[in-house]
Amino acid sequence: MTASTSPAVPDTADTADRQQRIEQIRQAAHRIRRNALDMGEVQGQGYIGQALGVADVLAVVYADQLRFRPEDPHWADRDRFLLSIGHYAIALYAALAEAGIIPVEELETYGSDDSRLPMSAMASYTPGTEISGGSLGHGLGVATGMALGLRLQGNPARVYDLLSDGELDEGSTWEAAMSCAHHGLDNVTAIVDMNALQADGPTTGVLRTEPVTDKWRAFGWHALRVDGNDVAALVDAFDEARAHRGSPSVVICDTRIGHGVPLLAAREKAHFMRVEEHEWQIARDQLQEGLAR
Ligand SMILES: [Mg+2]
Repeated sequence: MTASTSPAVPDTADTADRQQRIEQIRQAAHRIRRNALDMGEVQGQGYIGQALGVADVLAVVYADQLRFRPEDPHWADRDRFLLSIGHYAIALYAALAEAGIIPVEELETYGSDDSRLPMSAMASYTPGTEISGGSLGHGLGVATGMALGLRLQGNPARVYDLLSDGELDEGSTWEAAMSCAHHGLDNVTAIVDMNALQADGPTTGVLRTEPVTDKWRAFGWHALRVDGNDVAALVDAFDEARAHRGSPSVVICDTRIGHGVPLLAAREKAHFMRVEEHEWQIARDQLQEGLAR
């Protein structure tokens, strides 16, 4: 939690502002999930479970934290958001549409020939996409280089890098972590999507990475761990990361695959999901019901 110097009695205006901020982010997360379902239906399959799981995190980033100009994706002072996990492209496009960087109508071209929205995110194709992902374990190294460059230029922009728990198996991730801390890059926020799953199965069975928070701390990072589907907790963590000085920060987010759509959250084969034609509407209905609750 953020260290606070507030008086014991909370300022009512602040509390109301915070509530409004959280509600706006929740609405954004809902639209990101809906966008992801719409895109999933175009292909009938994909990394839909991850997109639903990470939607709250992306909503906090795009609707609350990131400084950018939707009409000018190359604005020099923009905060950079790097998607290290290129196969999460469906989640990124859903967020870019919500952020107004790409038109919502364009989402229906997802994964088709000549579309700007390929199934794995590529910087040369899509506005607002900073790096081409796909080969895993590279995002944090690129983020470190970018952050060092920005600091040398005196540019106050921040660099966010979203990586997966599967990428914690990559030696390159830890080389970058060590380097980023060595240079004291407090303009970096790494975000780990801890959904406990990777292509080869549950992460605990592939390679033991816990205690994850302790590992980042040992590498010199300011490490925070939160429920990645709790918007209020995410807001506090990202605010704290942004305010922290002297070392890079990491927000480790425990997310639930398929969150918001019980039908898909219950899928056993969740890494790359196939969804029947008739199930898409059920999924959208369940998402809508969740918002009403
Ligand atoms: Mg994972």
